[in-house]
Amino acid sequence: MSDAPKRITLEQWDLQYEKLRAAGAPQPYYGGPLSRHLKDGDRRLLKLSYDNSAAALRLWNLLLTEEDRLHEARASGRKIVGTMKDLGTVPVMAYSLKNAVAFYPDGAWWIPCVMELGAGLLEIADSLGIDESFCPVRAMLGAFVTGAHFPLPDMLVCSVGATCDDFSAIAQRLEGLGPEILWWEMPHRREPEPDEIAVTLPGGFVAPKRQVEFVKSQLQGIKTALEELTGERLYAEKLSEGIRKANQVRRCLSELRHLAFTAQRCPIPALEMLIAEMLAIHFCSDRQETIAVLTELLDEVKARVQAEVGVLEVDAARIFWVNPVADLQVMNLLEDCGGRICGTEYLFSHALDEVPEDSPPLDALAQMALADPMVGSSIDRAQRICADISLFGAEAVVISRIGGASHCALEGQVIGEIVQDELDIPVIEIEVPPVTDSMRPTVRTRLEALVETVRARRRPVPK
Ligand code: SF4
Repeated sequence: MSDAPKRITLEQWDLQYEKLRAAGAPQPYYGGPLSRHLKDGDRRLLKLSYDNSAAALRLWNLLLTEEDRLHEARASGRKIVGTMKDLGTVPVMAYSLKNAVAFYPDGAWWIPCVMELGAGLLEIADSLGIDESFCPVRAMLGAFVTGAHFPLPDMLVCSVGATCDDFSAIAQRLEGLGPEILWWEMPHRREPEPDEIAVTLPGGFVAPKRQVEFVKSQLQGIKTALEELTGERLYAEKLSEGIRKANQVRRCLSELRHLAFTAQRCPIPALEMLIAEMLAIHFCSDRQETIAVLTELLDEVKARVQAEVGVLEVDAARIFWVNPVADLQVMNLLEDCGGRICGTEYLFSHALDEVPEDSPPLDALAQMALADPMVGSSIDRAQRICADISLFGAEAVVISRIGGASHCALEGQVIGEIVQDELDIPVIEIEVPPVTDSMRPTVRTRLEALVETVRARRRPVPK
């Protein structure tokens, strides 16, 4: 374990980095002081709080150097596959090939936050008719137009069908600008009819076998396209090996989440946990390094839990968080207000569940894709959230709304009502734009009130 755990500023991280270097701590090839990323325009970094461990430094550096890695992949002749919307399926296939690297152009939705709107991506989307009535994923359009945030992919893949209206419209607008997109269809997950064969998917949802077969046929088309792109056959053994590696990431995250959400003292801040979870989606363009980074983070967390130390007060309110935040600083704010994260559903829980290793590999990936919480009903999603709240012992729920997101209009209410009916715990909804500065006092007040409510509910009722 490194120094006593605490949250520190970017400035303090630079001092800490020098200390680590002087002590001879090894650095990965993408290592270095965190503040060097400011020169890329990532100004939000100045306003965040960070975990002070070497493991967290490595995690942040991996995240903030992805663009460099993609350019290196291009320079070394590897094919770059832009995978859109499925959040965790196609990358498992792409990374099973020697000559391909996959990333999510959708990840551009955090650029307006990290660069504090300095990149002008939302304005470009506006000029293309995709205005603020769409969710911040529209920043992706600006990133394609400027070409300044990731190399243009050699192949673009996007799931359609049971996806949100926002993404469908944005991806269609993107195709209108020139890039060719390989579309694949994801059906709306439904309950099997009495006469249909049912399949229990990773994570526990159930779907008819014929839907699994249909998704498998769609993935077969992507497999063929990947083989043509790379000139390499994606044999079942290779795909099975890719699934085993993905499961290594998922098992590591599962242990990390369990420790982080259930330890008596919170061993690792919410922001680092959010980033760690995101690595499951496409391995931040380096699968092997993702496994190494998560393993080091898990070792740090285990050591802290063993030593009964953590980064927050022991009585922090245990909060379950629904949806990712467009402004990363809000994860810090929750902790500043006296809360801690004890459970999350960031729209990609299917990327955290292990992929079955006892099924043929394409079949297993089809099952995983159908387990996406966003391709079924909001009731399904709410049931899974309730199960995880009980598992992690959360005392309240924050549903973080995403401005413009079509699914957020009603889904929050459905989830909130089901959680309150089944578990009788407080639920609030807040809206988090890419930069919350102007509404920070309001968000703070709501979070403080929730923490106070949780504490009041812990007090014994006077007789
Ligand atoms: S509306 Fe929601 S699910 Fe759709 S792209 Fe935006 S954040 Fe993702």
